[in-house]
Amino acid sequence: MNNLASWRLRVRRRIQAIPRGVSLEDQQMMRRAIDLAQAAGSRGEVPVGAVIYRDGIVLGEASNDREASADPTGHAEVVALRRAATAIGGWRLNGCSMAVTLEPCPMCAGALVNARMARVLYGARDPKAGAVDTLFDLCRDPRLNHRLEVIGGIMESKCGALLTNFFRAKRIAKRGR
Ligand SMILES: [Zn+2]
Repeated sequence: MNNLASWRLRVRRRIQAIPRGVSLEDQQMMRRAIDLAQAAGSRGEVPVGAVIYRDGIVLGEASNDREASADPTGHAEVVALRRAATAIGGWRLNGCSMAVTLEPCPMCAGALVNARMARVLYGARDPKAGAVDTLFDLCRDPRLNHRLEVIGGIMESKCGALLTNFFRAKRIAKRGR
């Protein structure tokens, strides 16, 4: 294969990996969420990161801090929602998007609906707790009073690898003890 053909192939693969409706800004924000997740993992927290933004401005961001805060609601999404609400001085986050590395659980999906968020973009699916696609579809349920756009699978392999590597290292450490 000549250089041009291989370059074309690489570009095509890259484009295919990006789901429909995902902008460059969304991808930047997901990269930021991945950095936050990585930082959480190095502190011994389950590596999940979330960024809330509107018109290119980050309003709140957080990583999972359940261990450090000893708080069962200390998921990245909830902590980021609290920070964004504080930043704008109100609980209504109309027009805001969230990039989060893992599919939100029922608690976080409920919080997104209650915050009147516009969009949620996630990386890896969660077969054990995913509540916006996998197990439930809480953000698009017509019975609730607000719905969000949901886009999944952004940088999925990277987001998923963070989690699998974290849990693998934990298992190895446990066996070594
Ligand atoms: Zn959650």
